[in-house]
Amino acid sequence: MPIIRISGRLLISIIFSFLFVSANAAEADWDLINQETLQRFQDMLRIDTSNPPGNETVLVEQLADILTAEGIDVEIYSRDPARANLVARLRGNGSKQPLLLMAHLDVVTVDPEKWSFPPFGGTLDDKWIYSRGVVDDKDNLVASLMTMLLLERSGVTLDRDVIFLAEAGEEGGVQWGIEFMTSEHPDAIDAQYCLAEGGSVTRENGAALFAGIQSGEKKRRTAVLNVTGVAGHGSVPTRNNAVVRLGQAITALADWQEPVRLSDTTTTMLARLAEISPPEAAARYRALLNPGSRAAEEAMLWMLDNKPATAALLHNTVTPTIMNIGYRYNVIPSAGSASLDVRLLPE
Ligand SMILES: [Zn+2]
Repeated sequence: MPIIRISGRLLISIIFSFLFVSANAAEADWDLINQETLQRFQDMLRIDTSNPPGNETVLVEQLADILTAEGIDVEIYSRDPARANLVARLRGNGSKQPLLLMAHLDVVTVDPEKWSFPPFGGTLDDKWIYSRGVVDDKDNLVASLMTMLLLERSGVTLDRDVIFLAEAGEEGGVQWGIEFMTSEHPDAIDAQYCLAEGGSVTRENGAALFAGIQSGEKKRRTAVLNVTGVAGHGSVPTRNNAVVRLGQAITALADWQEPVRLSDTTTTMLARLAEISPPEAAARYRALLNPGSRAAEEAMLWMLDNKPATAALLHNTVTPTIMNIGYRYNVIPSAGSASLDVRLLPE
């Protein structure tokens, strides 16, 4: 099943440009729809689904109430009662195979000390919303929910079923979410196409500049770097101090860059970005189309500093994320480790 990854706002507009053109339905009241979408978005942001532990069921119950109140069929599937998945389905006439809209319920954990607003407050401050999950993935969750509600309310005849999967455990723990659904309940989500998170719309001064669409995904591996040394007292420095060795190893890793490797997708992306960018930026994108050249190396360094998310699409990466070493200020530990988040190009 092809998975097409797009942003939430794009999802609603794609579905509805199709819907309203084909059904010739009355013009929707987008002001009202915007208000309702914002309210439902804030409601779901206020539910703490930090993973671990997830507790996605609380949000599943909220979604189920909204959907069933509008007469939409809902099924709840769970391997762990606290970590439910929700499937809602709008019935089509069956002339085409279903379309699946997919979004995840859980968010990564957060350190509230670092936040100006409560991370689960759904605070709207002037034009920005502050909350964990605003861009991953409750934006897609609310877009999928609203798509279901608006399709149902429109009364349009669908050529295909539209299925909405709100999944648990995407941020680690797929055994509660997508792995469980595909292995135990594949029929509930079987579809010809799937629209999911990953792409994004880039705006400049409020106007959409381009829509990025994801065609594949890097493969994640966790590596652990183990270091050893001779234990000792902090008053007697040694040349094989494990803390220093771990620091040196991480510095070496951070300084090391895998070469740029382009795929059909990233080649097309760079070429098209060059077409719509001002001269200086366009030159950088074109330089990257010739990996190995001096200009490409310089462009990559600029990207790493200024557009790290674009740079990450172009090569394999290794990111140190956790260090575990030492237990007392005056003791040189004999061992320690670091966790590395390794992301490999899809090829
Ligand atoms: Zn996500």
